[in-house]
Formats: sequence, structure tokens, C-alpha cells
Amino acid sequence: MDGDFRTEFVREPAALKHHPALVLNADYRPLSYYPLSLWPWQDAVKAVYLDRVDIVAEYDDIVRSPSTEIRIPSVIVLKDYVKPQRRVAFTRFNLFLRDEFRCQYCGSKGDLTFDHVVPRARGGITSWENVVAACSPCNLRKGSKSLRRSGLSLRRQPRAPQAEQLRNLGRKFPPNHLHESWLDFLYWDAELEA
Ligand SMILES: [Zn+2]
Repeated sequence: MDGDFRTEFVREPAALKHHPALVLNADYRPLSYYPLSLWPWQDAVKAVYLDRVDIVAEYDDIVRSPSTEIRIPSVIVLKDYVKPQRRVAFTRFNLFLRDEFRCQYCGSKGDLTFDHVVPRARGGITSWENVVAACSPCNLRKGSKSLRRSGLSLRRQPRAPQAEQLRNLGRKFPPNHLHESWLDFLYWDAELEA
């Protein structure tokens, strides 16, 4: 069960444009922040009928079948708690998130790319410890030079992030589209921690 919950919400991104449901874990926190756990409304409605979730909030819109009608859920909560994933996937997005969308050399926020700290030409590998977010000018300046030779310095030593650390950072960088009924579940705990 664990597995299909994680893959279902990324299966059909196009279907998420209309009436997606925010999926909360049984503790009322989003099942995941990145990607934000959203299901197409069809899956949300199905889960309601299968009794796997409770409805927390609804859209105004209704879907009808020959025998019944239901308001489309906008927030649903799993009845069974799913243990959050420990391992953090090494993806471009997660790496940007770890580096808080800032160049790790100069701190700028614009025009971000990736840089191998130990250049690939010198045997540097593509890993959490050797890749950082970098702006194009810094990337160009560094080229295939070593860090020392380039005259640049790292704002902090790159490491593999903990899942919890990335979740906390995720709250600072919300996705573009948020339905108003989701807001309570996305941010109240972040406010309390601030
Ligand atoms: Zn830079």
C-alpha cells in the first residue's frame, strides 16, 4: 500500500490541474512536500469510496454518477499512517532545495545551474557532497579549476540532507498553485516553529 500511495500522485501530472486533492497523512501533515502530495480528483473520490481516506475539506463542485453524487474533496486524510520516507532522492530539485535556491559561491538567487566542486574533468563525481547550486557567472568563473585555484569559496560544506531538514526547507518554498483549503495544513506548524 505504502508504495502505490507514493507513486499515484505523480502518475498523471496533467490530471492534477483540475480539482486536485491535498493528501494528508493520518497525523494531518501532508504525505509529502516534494512533490506536494496531490491526487487527481478521480483518485481522491475512489479512495473515499474504498474507505481509505476521510474528507477534510471540499470544493464547491459536484461529480455525479447514475446512483449518487459527491462534492469533490479538496483535502483528504489517510486512515492508516504511512511512515515518511527516510532516504532523500538525489534529484536536481532536492539539491536546489538543500541549497535554498542560492548560488553556494556568491549567494545570488538568479540564473541557477549546478557545479561540480571537484570538476568532473578531475575525477569529481556527481553526488550530494560534490554538486552545489551555482549561478552561471560563478560556474563560468570556476570552469574546470579546483576550488582553491578558482578563488571562490563555498558558503557551506555540501552534504546529503536529512529528510526532515528538506521537509522544513520545503515549507519555505511552496508550489505555485495552492487551493485555499490546503493552507491550514501546509503552514500552521511552520508558523509555530518560527
Ligand atoms: Zn554565484
